[in-house]
Amino acid sequence: MEKWVYSFGAGAAEGRADMRDLLGGKGANLAEMSNLGLSVPPGFTLTTSVCTHFYASDRNYPDTLKAAVDAALSLVESRVDKRFGDPDDPLLLSVRSGARASMPGMMDTVLNLGLNDVTVEGLAKRSGDARFAFDSYRRFIQMYSDVVLGVGHHHFEEILELYKDDRGLILDTDLGADDWRAITEAYRAKVAEKNGEPFPQDPHRQLWGAIGAVFDSWMNQRAITYRRLNNISADWGTAVNVQSMVFGNMGDDCSTGVAFTRNPSTGEKAVFGEYLVNAQGEDVVAGIRTPRPLSKPAADAVQGVGSMGPSMEEAMPDVYRQLTTVFAALEGHYRDMQDIEFTVQQGTLYMLQTRAGKRTAPAALKIAVDMAKEGVISRQEAIRRVDAGSLDQLLHPTLDPDAERHVLVRGLAASPGAASGALVLNSDEAELRARGGDAVILARVETSPEDIHGMHAARGILTARGGMTSHAAVVARGMGRPCVSGAAELRIDYAAETLTVGGTVVKVGDRLTIDGSTGEVMLGEVPTIQPQLGSDFDDLMSWVDDARHLGVRANAETPGDATTARAFGAEGIGLCRTEHMFFDEQRILPIREMIMSESEDERRAALAKILPMQRQDFVELFQIMAGLPVTIRLLDPPLHEFLPRSDTEITEMAEATGSTIDEVRRRASQLHELNPMLGHRGCRLGLSYPEIYEMQARAIFEAALEVGSARGETVVPEVMIPLAATREELEILKIRIDAVADSVAEAKGSTPEYLVGTMIELPRACLLAGQLADSAEFFSFGTNDLTQTTFGISRDDSGRFLNRYQELEIFARDPFVTLDIDGVGELIKMATQRGKETRPDIKLGICGEHGGDPDSVKFCHRIGLDYVSCSPFRVPVARLAAAQAALEDAEEDPG
Ligand code: PEP
Ligand code: MG
Repeated sequence: MEKWVYSFGAGAAEGRADMRDLLGGKGANLAEMSNLGLSVPPGFTLTTSVCTHFYASDRNYPDTLKAAVDAALSLVESRVDKRFGDPDDPLLLSVRSGARASMPGMMDTVLNLGLNDVTVEGLAKRSGDARFAFDSYRRFIQMYSDVVLGVGHHHFEEILELYKDDRGLILDTDLGADDWRAITEAYRAKVAEKNGEPFPQDPHRQLWGAIGAVFDSWMNQRAITYRRLNNISADWGTAVNVQSMVFGNMGDDCSTGVAFTRNPSTGEKAVFGEYLVNAQGEDVVAGIRTPRPLSKPAADAVQGVGSMGPSMEEAMPDVYRQLTTVFAALEGHYRDMQDIEFTVQQGTLYMLQTRAGKRTAPAALKIAVDMAKEGVISRQEAIRRVDAGSLDQLLHPTLDPDAERHVLVRGLAASPGAASGALVLNSDEAELRARGGDAVILARVETSPEDIHGMHAARGILTARGGMTSHAAVVARGMGRPCVSGAAELRIDYAAETLTVGGTVVKVGDRLTIDGSTGEVMLGEVPTIQPQLGSDFDDLMSWVDDARHLGVRANAETPGDATTARAFGAEGIGLCRTEHMFFDEQRILPIREMIMSESEDERRAALAKILPMQRQDFVELFQIMAGLPVTIRLLDPPLHEFLPRSDTEITEMAEATGSTIDEVRRRASQLHELNPMLGHRGCRLGLSYPEIYEMQARAIFEAALEVGSARGETVVPEVMIPLAATREELEILKIRIDAVADSVAEAKGSTPEYLVGTMIELPRACLLAGQLADSAEFFSFGTNDLTQTTFGISRDDSGRFLNRYQELEIFARDPFVTLDIDGVGELIKMATQRGKETRPDIKLGICGEHGGDPDSVKFCHRIGLDYVSCSPFRVPVARLAAAQAALEDAEEDPG
């Protein structure tokens, strides 16, 4: 019979950390902490299988669940020596969600469950603090009504308004037990009015209501959105954790807090956390009060915003010491940075949660490298721990330190990176404007899980309230969005659509810049600079290079790109798109002349102007790449990108060629194609106008000989033919290229060495790869075109409808970003096999955009390509993904 419920607490547990699929992350770690002998309030976990069963059975529970919950509840009662519903000394419970992957704040929670009109009196007597008891009861009524009964928070806030001063603060210290009692009565009356029946008094009914609400919340809209953004499967389900309550709000010897064992923004090895005295856990997470730091700030630290109050290290030194011992034990046990929640009840420390902490990309890198150097994890483990996709963030721009900036306000540096954009104050507008191509900064008093889509759409996030562990901070860091939180001097007026600091009013649509690394908020757009990568990056990358087998090259054509590519560790150029060498203003005219020529003579005359420029381009590339392989693709211009369009372009063209404006127009319209992506491009152009490829081959060979003789070593360029579909195309072009080589050899007295290969960009080329390999000494998969031609989806128009395809889950990911392994991937696999049958030593690479996408790189490794080629900034991503793929292999096949 399936076990639906797992107990934990009192130094023992039925579950373990490695049971997170069944118990969810929170449940598995509560069990593990119990097993480690840490002080965990006893409780039990309803498994994720219950959730799966619930949704598969029309929201009904398994038959044996009730008996299992009753038994587990009895065990909790005996462990804490209290009874659920006991009028004199009631056991109170928390009910929380806990999925396999952490989904911060996306699902529901109920605290103080078990209170009713009778038990609240018992709690008041036992605790000797009626104010505390009734405050707990009113919190419970509010939370339960919101989560389970659908009576929204604002109904209760309205009641509470009557007890607030003119600054909007609850007159906490002035409210006595009778006030709180009156508030709970008003709350219950409100529930009865809204719901048509009284607030439930039976604790067991309350418990099942809360359990049901947590399971229901798995399918709420924000959880669905979060899952979609984070690739979390709806089938996983959530677990429900029911746990005996401990109280951080029973007086000044009580507190509650959140901590990271290392700094989640920078990775620095130092306890990083916040706590609130006399508060419940939700107060810290929700960012309603601004918390105090755990550790004493260093003497030279810049003081943060507002009055922070004493650190826990100063205010509660004994508890602080215990806490740091627990942190070290947990980090050592899990061998990773932990994100920990705790409560101190009357001087006693309780651990409520531990999990691997979310961290920024720079922190992930630093923590992985530091832990490998500390001997806590292996270098291989360090490589596995850095998310290849997020490595991009290390390349985020920062503010130019020399740029002028007018700091409007300062908040907490919650998530690093700098961003500028138009101010927006709500998430729907953020999403709308971002879709229209606008960069936006989303400012909110505080964010809630409802803002997830707006945060995703925004370039940066700014909040007036909340600490470093508030929702905004945690979610922004996870997303890699710059974030400044808790900028307390900020006044946001949603109705007037303004943000005010002192006398300065900023309107929606005005430009703002935020720096999530310093907490500064500036008016206008401040210039940024590219980041410097530090020694941790170099260390990791050297381990990565030891681990990987797949080569990584770059797509580059300018000397600047080639230099960047080498600095990022590219081992050659996998694609030099020669048509890109002509977008320059100086050069566009001769290339247009060449394309618009009406006779071979005219074309040769235009080409003669281009030859020296091309030769010089290649000389520079060969010099920069210093003996590394360079693949040069012969001209492949979708013609429409080069035809003169505007009146100025047409006039210029007419002047340069001595023709009339009408003649230029006529020729341009003659060359106009209905479908240029499938038109007169690639090797088709080379076959129609042989002199173009002959000029390019000559420029390549002459440059190779020149650089070769200067360097004292042979430069062996790889000449690549685009968009071939047939053996014959390649044969004809190869004969011509060889003839140019012969003629260069004769003129220069030195024979060029080179390879001739082809792009594989068409399904027919994949099918006939065995024949193409007769002529081609290498293949490079042009997966941009291959994806376009396999799906029959235009690369230029797909943006208009692919969103819809993703919404309908026809595509899990955009196939132009991540390789469609089932379809396009299958063609690539077939082509590699067929190519190798003809030519066993054929060189195989990929140079479409997929060459820099981690999952696609891993696929390339698995099918045995020799290299991937991608844009220079993605070279580190590809190197890391290649190493991770090699380590995955080693895991599967340890022999
Ligand atoms: C490709 O098609 O994948 C490719 C690299 O060529 P281009 O993007 O220049 O068409
Ligand atoms: Mg292409």
